Amino acid sequence: MSPGKKRLRNYRNRRDFSRSPEPRGHDSEDAGWRNEGNPIFVVQQHAASTMHFDFRLEVDGALASWAVPKGPSTDPRDRRLAVRTEDHPLDYADFEGSIPEDEYGGGSVIVWDAGPYRQVKEGDEDLSPVADALRDGHVTVWLEGRKIRGGYALIHARTGGDESNWLLVKMDDEGADARRNPVSTEPESVLSGRTIDQIAERSTRDTNE
Ligand code: MN
Repeated sequence: MSPGKKRLRNYRNRRDFSRSPEPRGHDSEDAGWRNEGNPIFVVQQHAASTMHFDFRLEVDGALASWAVPKGPSTDPRDRRLAVRTEDHPLDYADFEGSIPEDEYGGGSVIVWDAGPYRQVKEGDEDLSPVADALRDGHVTVWLEGRKIRGGYALIHARTGGDESNWLLVKMDDEGADARRNPVSTEPESVLSGRTIDQIAERSTRDTNE
């Protein structure tokens, strides 16, 4: 299925692409930057009005997205709030830079982690396609990132009665490690090696020049 104009409508309606450096995205999935092998996941650190991490999964030619205030944990005991946000275009997975402060999502973005993922079974349920599993409110994925690895469950918990509230929970497997805290100990972008503060400084410098 191509993401089509409808799927990215919310994404585009919220942004002024003459002012924001974010990608407009393609309407056809074969115009995307990646078309082979496993789908990808990406975690982008985003210094918007509140610092958060955007967790995104490639699903049917676009990026299903959640804003995770505390970022992903490697400790299976943590249940991290993940607020569902609008689908993003596939080429957003490479986006790193600074959105002008007075624009939607204003602030700097880095690609904190990325890699392929695959869906995994939990229990003895049959696997349904990721898009269907998301509609049903529960999907488990195996991530092959540089910083985070192994199984993660996304659960539509509707915490506090809010439809947009999901939970992101690390599964107890070889990627689990309660002593690690990569969100704070490994702050560099996996694309550029820069921290979010360095991206923000560069943008301030460019503006002042
Ligand atoms: Mn964000």
